Amino acid sequence: MRIAMISEHASPLAALGGVDAGGQNTHVAELATALAGEGHDVRVYTRRDSTDQPVLVPMADGVTVAHVPAGPPEPLPKDELLPYMKDFSRWLVDQWRGDEWAPSVAHAHFWMSGLAAVTAGRQTGVPVVQTYHALGTVKRRHQGAADTSPARRIGYERALGRAVDRVVAQCQDEVRELVRMGVPRNRMALIPSGVDSERFSPEGAAEPRDPDRPRILTVGRFVERKGFADLIRALKIVPGAECVVVGGPPPDRLDGDQFAGKLRRLAESTKVADRLRIVGAVPANEMPRWYRSADVLATAPWYEPFGLTPLEAMACGVPVIGTAVGGLTDTVVDGLTGDLVPPRDPRSLGMALRRVLGDPVRRFAYATAALDRARQCYSWKRAAEQLGAVYATVSGLRPATGAVA
Ligand code: UDP
Repeated sequence: MRIAMISEHASPLAALGGVDAGGQNTHVAELATALAGEGHDVRVYTRRDSTDQPVLVPMADGVTVAHVPAGPPEPLPKDELLPYMKDFSRWLVDQWRGDEWAPSVAHAHFWMSGLAAVTAGRQTGVPVVQTYHALGTVKRRHQGAADTSPARRIGYERALGRAVDRVVAQCQDEVRELVRMGVPRNRMALIPSGVDSERFSPEGAAEPRDPDRPRILTVGRFVERKGFADLIRALKIVPGAECVVVGGPPPDRLDGDQFAGKLRRLAESTKVADRLRIVGAVPANEMPRWYRSADVLATAPWYEPFGLTPLEAMACGVPVIGTAVGGLTDTVVDGLTGDLVPPRDPRSLGMALRRVLGDPVRRFAYATAALDRARQCYSWKRAAEQLGAVYATVSGLRPATGAVA
């Protein structure tokens, strides 16, 4: 099958760790590769954000990335991309109408990609599958006035839920949110992300560490809602442990980074500065080394649409102490592969970390169960197979090309 994946802001070729480059980039790259592994021909459409990008770039066997000219060819915050989605969809229509490469199905990632895909799909007869990755309603609830999303986002997301052929939810919590938004349940499929258990495994090189000092690792883009500040506050009641933060800008730009400065000042005021190490962005291929070096992964988001880093840690045999939000409530089995604590509650987080770090038997049991769960339940191959079935259903619903819905 020919599959068009639309990922307007998140290129599968981008370096990760920046404010807008994280889980969606990994998800799209891994899924595209796994779908190609199932024999599909995949093209990933992402916005051209530099002048030196060729239109078509081969990414892997069976996967090509297409750079769509929409808006200025320079990096822009994702919250500024909405005005360019018309051009994005026009370009798709031109491409798909030409004889060269017309998809059997389009799979949109994030709401703005959905708008472009639905518009192009209407004109070309290509069915559309939508994965939101994050929902405007949830972001608004948690961030209030700090939410910089376009005002119309929530309305568009609701409309998309009815306009597309299928919505793919990634966790139970998202299914509940979608139902509340009015997305018909019979149009949803629950297909969680996966993890590459060959790359993320306990075997292999690890970053050097001090063997006498328990290591808590936390990973994420430098945005408030990831809860780094809650973790730093929690550190006070976890004596002796060091906290290693991976993510944010590349190491050579950390000094001038506002968010890193804020975390450092907080650590000084809570007297844990000597136990905080901010590493900065790490290339994707070096991530397993960091997970392997840790005794535990702490992840304290206020909300989390899915959360790949806990799964990656689990696949490396590292237990997770996380907040009981979003995808974490599916991936982390409380009391078996780690512990779940309430969000924005540094005390509960600190107590759970202290308990697991002080109890090697528990930590070993969690680590074994975490590894087992990641391997058994979360492969990209499984996700690609389940998606393949969804694509087959929706492309059977309409003729593949030509007809206008
Ligand atoms: N990541 C990375 N380098 C970094 C920080 C993060 O490669 O310095 C990767 C990480 O391994 C994971 C993704 O970025 O694959 C983050 O995904 P997650 O779902 O945890 O968070 P999101 O960015 O979607 O909020």
